[in-house]
Amino acid sequence: MALPPRPARPTSYVSMDETSRALLESSMESSLVIDVSGYVLAANLMAAKLFGMETPGELEQANIYDLLPRDSADSRRARISEAIEAVRSLRFEEEVSGRSLVHSIVPVTNPWGEVTRLAINTLDLTELHRTDEDLRREQQRQIFFMESLPGIVYHLYPDQSIRYANRYFRKYFGSPKGKKCAEALNCANSSCEGCPPMESMESDRTQEWDWTDARGRTFHLQCSPMTDSAGERMIMVLGIDITDRKRAEDALKIAHDKSEDKVRRRTRELERANAELTSKSTRLVAAMKKADAATRAKSAFLANMSHEIRTPLNAVLGMAELALRVEDPSRKNECLGRVLEAGTSLLTVINDILDFSKIEARKLPLERIDFDIREVLRTALDMHRLHAADKGLTLVAEVGDDVPLAIVGDPGRLRQVLVNLVANAVKFTEAGGVTVRIGVAPGGVDTAPGSPLTLEFAVADTGIGIPKKKRRAIFKSFLQADDSITRKHGGTGLGLAICKLLVELMGGTLEVESEEGRGSTFFFAIDFSVGDPEALEQDRAEAATAAPRPGLRVLLADDNALNRSLAMDLLAEKGYEAVAVENGVQALEAVRRERFDLVLMDVQMPVMDGITATRAIRDPGSGALDSEVPIVALTAHALKGDRERFLAAGMNDYIAKPIRIDAFYATVAGAVNGAQAPGADSVAGAGVAAGVAAGGNDCAEDRQEGNGCPAFDRGTALEMLGGNRALLGRMDAIFLRDTPGEMEELAVALADQRWDEALRLAHSIKSSARTVGARRAGAQAEQVEFFCRQQDHTSATREYKALESEIRSALEFLAREAAPK
Ligand code: ADP
Repeated sequence: MALPPRPARPTSYVSMDETSRALLESSMESSLVIDVSGYVLAANLMAAKLFGMETPGELEQANIYDLLPRDSADSRRARISEAIEAVRSLRFEEEVSGRSLVHSIVPVTNPWGEVTRLAINTLDLTELHRTDEDLRREQQRQIFFMESLPGIVYHLYPDQSIRYANRYFRKYFGSPKGKKCAEALNCANSSCEGCPPMESMESDRTQEWDWTDARGRTFHLQCSPMTDSAGERMIMVLGIDITDRKRAEDALKIAHDKSEDKVRRRTRELERANAELTSKSTRLVAAMKKADAATRAKSAFLANMSHEIRTPLNAVLGMAELALRVEDPSRKNECLGRVLEAGTSLLTVINDILDFSKIEARKLPLERIDFDIREVLRTALDMHRLHAADKGLTLVAEVGDDVPLAIVGDPGRLRQVLVNLVANAVKFTEAGGVTVRIGVAPGGVDTAPGSPLTLEFAVADTGIGIPKKKRRAIFKSFLQADDSITRKHGGTGLGLAICKLLVELMGGTLEVESEEGRGSTFFFAIDFSVGDPEALEQDRAEAATAAPRPGLRVLLADDNALNRSLAMDLLAEKGYEAVAVENGVQALEAVRRERFDLVLMDVQMPVMDGITATRAIRDPGSGALDSEVPIVALTAHALKGDRERFLAAGMNDYIAKPIRIDAFYATVAGAVNGAQAPGADSVAGAGVAAGVAAGGNDCAEDRQEGNGCPAFDRGTALEMLGGNRALLGRMDAIFLRDTPGEMEELAVALADQRWDEALRLAHSIKSSARTVGARRAGAQAEQVEFFCRQQDHTSATREYKALESEIRSALEFLAREAAPK
């Protein structure tokens, strides 16, 4: 299109009233008025700015086609021409120098209808357009961002519809279109009540929570309330799948728990191991301490024992040496007396030790015979009557009425226990007394022979008591009560250890209750069985009446004067013709010389022992007149196996020492009659039991008094006579009747120096004294006997004086005993 010719510059401006001018100036758009040639007649500030000018004045008089870029000028001219020609308003958009412009052209006509001016309003849309574009781009970016997110994004509306869901969501849950959120999300929750997005909607606050869908996947959801482009309130929910993380976390937690568990377990194990180690080391230390204590106790015990042994042994040696050196016969005799005393004392100690080791080695068989428990208790108490009376103590026996007359068990062992306990009770009591109680254990008793029977024993005293911390120690083998007490009261300290072992051997437990200064009670229970009273009676009768055929000859070989005299007395009492010799050689000579119906052979003898002598007699070439003569051993050996040893040597049987009257007679009678020898056990057991009872406490009390042995030992005496009180009573009576006369005869014989007679009398007095348990008198008589044998007038006379006083007290004692109580 050809450009219209450029008209000349207008010469007059548009005249405008104030109102029109104000209207023009106030417009936000660019407003200008041009003539048909393009010259600006009027313009406002916006128009000036649009053309890059400062003031409207600068624009006025300018031609817009000059101001516009060429392209724009042309198109503008075309549009303006269009408006002029058509005489109508025009609206069009145009891009000028990168700006978006909207033009409104309104032609203004003169009265002739000719277009003379044009009003042009231009709106600059550039900024508006730019904002829209940015917005669009931003939205696009957002959507792109949401779409590409590795998590779910959705827009939730109050009606529970989801109007936008991103790709992740759609891929995982499917399209949410037309579905309520619960369905769209495959929600496992039963109700929407309290569902965080809904709450977020109500509270207008951001919410976060972990949500698990029906398939078990967990999302961490964040919902933020906002307004959409249409101004509607909604919630944008953003969710990240944390299932794997959670699983890993759970696994980690489990692993952690497990490892913590492991650590805890290990710690516990370590603690346990540590505790075990500690307790082990504690035990070890305790064991070491115990061993150490045991060693020390053993050493103390050994020191104690060697002291106990060495003291009398030194006395023996010293006195023997002195006896050899001194010329004066009375001094010599005094020394020998002391040797005797010390030797006796030594024997007691050694007996204690031997008993203990024998019992501890469990070498003693347990006897099972019918016995009278009242008798056992009586004999046990008898041993201590004198001592108790000396101290002004009462000695009481209480046996329950329901305790059967006959009991089956080991009377010897039981007696020994009682003897020891009563000895201690008397020893450690200065006022009051000692009570021994025997009763049937609760539960009663079936009196039929053979029925089981438990008896309870208690030995109670009102003595010094035992300190609490010593109460266990006193039972221990090598741990005795404190040395000072041991020294003060004498004793080997083995008594209770022996008792404990014996009680245990019989199936009981020895215990003690004690209060210092008030007294002690030792108690134990033992299972026996009910015995047969008739059998018991019969045994007694048999023992008492076993009478030999008259005229039977017995050879007795024994180096021990006491045993020899007792055996001889017993044999004589039954009418045996007995010959006594003192050793094996003499025995052999005797059997070569004479015929005997029986040989009683001591096993341990000087020159030739009993076993050798027996073998010699059994040897047909020995010259014995009867190599088949029955030989019965007399022995203190009573261990298992000894019997076999004796039998192997050719002995027929044996009698245990100290001699028990019933066993003695039964064995002797059995041997001469060719009867079956009594059971080895019963004989051996009885003998040993008696021996232990007699040996255990023999001289304990008297050593403390400094004397060789006790004045009286009635228990042993009774024991020797089988506990037969009547028999002992008869012996007492004979002693009371004959001894004063014999003493007178002895005095005369001594004065006349008729030594044989004196010797016989002294020997007889000695034997009688021993039989009734007057031990000191017996020992004294032996002294006299000894000096008679020596034909030592001075000594014998002096010893006789001492004997007189001993016999006097023995007679007084026996007279008291014989008096009705
Ligand atoms: P011992 O030969 O010393 O008497 P035991 O073994 O018989 O030996 O007794 C050990 C110790 O027990 C005694 O030395 C004494 O200390 C204590 N004992 C035993 N019986 C009694 C008792 N009845 N009263 C007080 N102490 C006792």
